[in-house]
Amino acid sequence: MAVVETECIVLRSYDLADADKIAVLLTADHGIVKAVAKGAKRLKSKFGSGLEPLSRVNAVYFKKETRELVDLDKAEVLESAFDLISSPEVLTQFSYLTDILISLVPAEDPDPAIFRMMNASLGAVRKSPDSLDAVSVYFEAWLLRLAGFFPSWDSCSICKISFREEEAAQIGAEFQLICVRCRKSAGGDTLTAGDREVIARSRRQSPAAFASESIPPETLAKLSAIFKRMIGRATGFDKIDRALHAGVRVPR
Ligand SMILES: [Zn+2]
Repeated sequence: MAVVETECIVLRSYDLADADKIAVLLTADHGIVKAVAKGAKRLKSKFGSGLEPLSRVNAVYFKKETRELVDLDKAEVLESAFDLISSPEVLTQFSYLTDILISLVPAEDPDPAIFRMMNASLGAVRKSPDSLDAVSVYFEAWLLRLAGFFPSWDSCSICKISFREEEAAQIGAEFQLICVRCRKSAGGDTLTAGDREVIARSRRQSPAAFASESIPPETLAKLSAIFKRMIGRATGFDKIDRALHAGVRVPR
């Protein structure tokens, strides 16, 4: 049995039996871990508010090779998410983002970049609640990238010629990009040069920096709809319709 101490973000927690809870944790260096928190439902539980969704905690747990669930021993709050989850909009949006994270990232796949991205996204919304829509699009793009479902959008999938900065591109059935010279019909979604620039920025900037440059709400809505279809394809996620409704708001 191994003892692990790690920083993590609580993705979810739910009841198990009479007194216990299960917490789904995104750890800094052991990926997503499911933990049993014994006695967590009791009034004077040692976990306190350490199992609240989106809290950043220092966790100590015991892991047996043969078991999928680990035994949570401690969850000390490093940063409470009370301010975040008191906003219904933030709670709904991050509940969706957490769902797709759990669906796309295999359990115990240790990629510290996913933890950093989640933590930075929460930090950006905490600092500027108005950035929720932009941060969500950033999160969707990065999750697709980190989970290996983002195609190479640097060049045309047919002629392999790199796109110029001002070039628009058509999105193919497999979410590959096709240049104007290679495309056979005018139908389907198109990425404008502006859309491509926003996507390129998401690749090199932090979520806070990405959200601080004003992006037209129509662009965010369009990119988010495309990313949601890519996520739906990647997961076969049946809640995608619900997610679309909870997603970026289009101004009327
Ligand atoms: Zn081409």
